[in-house]
Amino acid sequence: SATQLPKTMKGVWIEKTGGTEVLQYKTDIPVPELKEGEVLVKNEYIGINYIDTYFRTGLYPPPNFPYILGREGAGTIAALGPKTPSHLSLNASVVYMNQSAYAEFTPVPATAVVALPPSISPETAAAASLQGLTALTLIRDAYAVQRGDWILVHAAAGGVGLWLVQLLKAVGARTIATASTEEKRALAAKYGAEVTLEYFDYGDVFVKKVLEVTGGKGVSAVFDGVGKATFDASLNSLARKGSLVSFGNASGAVPPVTISRLTAKNAKLLRPTFFNYISEEGELEKYSAELWDFIVKDKMDVRIHEIYPLEDVARAHQDIESRKSTGKLLLRP
Ligand code: NDP
Repeated sequence: SATQLPKTMKGVWIEKTGGTEVLQYKTDIPVPELKEGEVLVKNEYIGINYIDTYFRTGLYPPPNFPYILGREGAGTIAALGPKTPSHLSLNASVVYMNQSAYAEFTPVPATAVVALPPSISPETAAAASLQGLTALTLIRDAYAVQRGDWILVHAAAGGVGLWLVQLLKAVGARTIATASTEEKRALAAKYGAEVTLEYFDYGDVFVKKVLEVTGGKGVSAVFDGVGKATFDASLNSLARKGSLVSFGNASGAVPPVTISRLTAKNAKLLRPTFFNYISEEGELEKYSAELWDFIVKDKMDVRIHEIYPLEDVARAHQDIESRKSTGKLLLRP
């Protein structure tokens, strides 16, 4: 059931992995056919996430070529595939986190789609969902943050980072935030970090500062999306029984770790992915409802760095990879 769908659409795909030059803006991609249980979303806003750069460079191998990048979009349902669950209706306003979002239309399994309440616009949803829900699942499921805990958050002015500092403040934790520039650290403080630090040498100087702030104890958990550059400093900043939650590779993938390094503090080490926290029925809906509540009732700020036209996707990738951005980058088809 569809109303006047075009035959072709605009979109961005890659035919091989590499630098931003492999991003190809096309105007004649066939509008996808729907499989059982899928809906076709007409994207109004497309979320850029750091993971998009991993698929572009090949750090995470794309499943096929040509491959349309992008894991997050919001807009309206333009068509329903066969046997689509009845809670999703034509023209409904929705957000999804799945695949192939850098396009005018994206086929999405109904299980990856969330219907938006009237209080949440597609722009807000595309800007908040993947990064906000990642932050929310991290502070609940990866390490269940307690009121009064000291927590270390790296790249705190980034997309996930600004969500972490806001949510940690809301649940009564005390945050030490890192970021690479004075402006970014000021932003992290404005969004809720109690203490901000530069990365220093990613080593002993940094750890000494964390110990000073925490009365010599270290932090209950580190949320580390920077990866390779910060891993050792993160591990050394933990308190006894602390949790190192390594959830990204902005500076490169963390090399193999010898588990005996955890013994000194009886530390826990996790390497979670958001998608595994929302894969059971009801989890995505539950966490989304909670995120909308934080946005509406706690007036959390959904910071948008820039909304780029889809054809400017290469500039958007350059901006996030060169550490120029704060908050969310969006594309508009
Ligand atoms: P961000 O907006 O946070 O951008 C990345 C930030 O990383 C930069 O702004 C920069 O901040 C910091 N950074 C540190 N070192 C480098 C480097 N060498 N090159 C580039 N950036 C660097 O991106 P996202 O919010 O989209 O993602 C943040 C992290 O979280 C990523 O690693 C991402 O893969 C991960 N992630 C993981 C998920 C999961 O399920 N596991 C889900 C979502 C995100 P600064 O200049 O202040 O250091």
